[in-house]
Amino acid sequence: MDRCPLCRSRSFEILYRSNVRTEGGRTSAYECTSFALGVHPDIFRCRSCSFVFNEPESGPLDHLEEYACVEDPQYLGEKRSRHLTYGRELDRIEALCSGRDLLDIGCYAGFFLEQARSRGWQVEGVEPSKWAADHATSMLGVDVFHGPIESYATERRFDVVTLWDVLEHLSDPVAVLGSIHRLLRPNGLLVFVTHNLDAPIARFLRGRYPFFMEMHTVHLNNRTRDLLLANTGFTLEERRVHRRAIRVGYLLSRLQRFGDAPARWAIRASRFLKMENRILWIGFMGLETIFARKLEAS
Ligand SMILES: [Zn+2]
Repeated sequence: MDRCPLCRSRSFEILYRSNVRTEGGRTSAYECTSFALGVHPDIFRCRSCSFVFNEPESGPLDHLEEYACVEDPQYLGEKRSRHLTYGRELDRIEALCSGRDLLDIGCYAGFFLEQARSRGWQVEGVEPSKWAADHATSMLGVDVFHGPIESYATERRFDVVTLWDVLEHLSDPVAVLGSIHRLLRPNGLLVFVTHNLDAPIARFLRGRYPFFMEMHTVHLNNRTRDLLLANTGFTLEERRVHRRAIRVGYLLSRLQRFGDAPARWAIRASRFLKMENRILWIGFMGLETIFARKLEAS
């Protein structure tokens, strides 16, 4: 990247230095630990428009090979909470959109598509992970293109295109949103969830913000989000805190990063208190849902 994809400036500065540990001269950036929250290569900022992105030389920005191999059986166990989360987002989408043709980019195991279909939507997905795309197709019977969005082509047009936790992984968000613009019908709706660097938690944690990660290549703030939308033919319609339904037992299992024993005891205690399957609604770490409307070329 020699020019800012948003404003074409050639002037960048380092915003936060890499905190990836190197062992014996060998970087661990591409091993599984690189998926850890808060572990990131050098983070750059455009001096002109403030667009923030990971060091371009740190490797293939879109990590397609890693995504193609991702398998995550634990994810499948949390279907109920995923459906609750997506149900809340669909309530809002249905209030903002009258059509019922939907494309989900990065649809993963297909839970959102399944939920939307049950509410009367005609759905299709795009997913780079083979394991996840196979699950969506064979177990849920939804129509999924296996591959990156850059390889997806169709004559179909949609009323809504969604990207849940996908935008921050893109190497070229301008190109992808440009493609989405062409896939949408007039007045169509683009919906995505991503983190916002203007959120108080991101401003407070600075270089220790957990969503600075090896695989998160793009980090928007209010200004660059609006510029990205404007440059690709969209206008911001609504933004709100993205709330996620999370099962107490699942949340506690994530304590394992602090050691097995605390997680085991916390899960036992939650079972004893019959809390394990309770659902918590959490809006966290500056995640926002963005609803943007397609503008017609004037
Ligand atoms: Zn710029």
